[in-house]
Amino acid sequence: MAAAILTATASDLGARIAARELTAVEVTRAFLDQIGRVDGAVHAFLHVDAEGALAQARGVDERLDAGEALGPLAGVPLALKDLFCQEGVPTTAASRMLEGWRPPYSATVTQRLLDAGVVILGKTNLDEFAMGSSTETSAFGPTYNPWDLARIPGGSGGGSAAALASFEAPLAVGTDTGGSIRQPGAVTGTVGVKPTYGGTSRFGVIAMASSLDQPGPCARTVLDAALLHAIIAGHDPQDSTSIDAPVPPVVEAARSGDVAGMRIGVVTELGGEGYDPGVLRRFTEGVAHLRAAGAEIVDVSCPHFRYALGAYYLIMPSEVSSNLARYDAIRYGRRVGDDGTRSTEEVMRLTRGDAFGDEVKRRIIIGTYALSSGYYDAYYGSAQKVRTLIARDFEAAFAQVDVLVSPSTPTTAFKIGERTDDLLAMYASDLCTIPANMAGVPAGSFPCGLSPEDGLPVGLQVMAPPLADDRVYRVGAALERALAAPDGGVLSDRLAPRWTPDAPKEA
Ligand code: GLN
Repeated sequence: MAAAILTATASDLGARIAARELTAVEVTRAFLDQIGRVDGAVHAFLHVDAEGALAQARGVDERLDAGEALGPLAGVPLALKDLFCQEGVPTTAASRMLEGWRPPYSATVTQRLLDAGVVILGKTNLDEFAMGSSTETSAFGPTYNPWDLARIPGGSGGGSAAALASFEAPLAVGTDTGGSIRQPGAVTGTVGVKPTYGGTSRFGVIAMASSLDQPGPCARTVLDAALLHAIIAGHDPQDSTSIDAPVPPVVEAARSGDVAGMRIGVVTELGGEGYDPGVLRRFTEGVAHLRAAGAEIVDVSCPHFRYALGAYYLIMPSEVSSNLARYDAIRYGRRVGDDGTRSTEEVMRLTRGDAFGDEVKRRIIIGTYALSSGYYDAYYGSAQKVRTLIARDFEAAFAQVDVLVSPSTPTTAFKIGERTDDLLAMYASDLCTIPANMAGVPAGSFPCGLSPEDGLPVGLQVMAPPLADDRVYRVGAALERALAAPDGGVLSDRLAPRWTPDAPKEA
């Protein structure tokens, strides 16, 4: 029984809770038990809010018993990246800087989840302030990939992705600045979507690089991600970059999965040298499945994508250096050396020196340098021009095709520690995902089988024009359908025997 709850899809759990075949409390308990059983090994969570989750679940049960009609995910548990403020619940961004801080308000995304009756189990691990591709820069230790505990689960949202892959939660929410939803999705065999920039609210999300950051859904199936997307997306007057437009029809698209007649462009610059042969093989097969489903496949060149990573590592740190100036030892969290003898400036310097990790400091320093008056045009200015060229590549591509596809990542999950001393290799994890952030277009990563080389998950990325997020889901659903096991299962289901107490063993 418990295992059947753990492996069910979120949409199925929501339907059974609405039909009163299951209570929100029993579903929530099953996932809290699973977290208790496996999170010692996976370390997806920084904080489990068992009491709060059960109280939310009881509230949902009462509302349903009273005959209230709630949304499709009411009573379904979710793991929340610890970058989203939740009133009264510890929120750390995986940094010592915010240890012990409890936000006085909830992010718009958090509030929309609670209003929809989604039960928040706790806060998941990430790279410190979302800066990283492996969760190894978390001040509280890494998360481990449920496919192989010696490997990284991606980052920065590795905790959210690992929680899904180890059946600790059927839903999760992440943020994506350069790939932090999609890259963890790819390397854990789960689904992750970065909506159109402005499609989901950043209000109450701890800022990394504001012109790139975007919250989005994570799940094990395409439909579950779409249902979650529909809950968290939509205009928010509290975010000045929020788009005042209807939410694209993502749920309909995920249910349909019809790509007949769709024009799909394969980005010629994303692939080839430096990519794992196993990743390229599964990607090519994925594209073949889409062709077999009726899509027309063409090659499309986006010549400026090759400069995206370099430009990102100027624009992102510039915004980081300005956003993280707010941690001044006065307003939030930690304060070091405030013994009454030191000046405010000294306390600030001691606190920032002590409480920020190396990667965060590195980016603040690079960003401050890139923005300094003598270098502003040479670095930040040039990077902004590259950003425009990337956006134009997308525009030109979408004049020819409906969506673009690429591998989500150049490689499968690497070993813990393998890239911590090789920053270029670490940063290269996001080669395929960064262009979409630079242009603000929607993009998702979808499971595309296991690499024949190492048996680890491979992701296929779908990118669409602004506000055409539904096309991302349509293609994702077509791929999911083509790759489904005879029982309709998805890739992560293959993990169930390893992680759930009494699931049927693999044949
Ligand atoms: N891995 C990328 C970085 O380190 C992206 C992070 C993110 O999307 N938050 O900047």
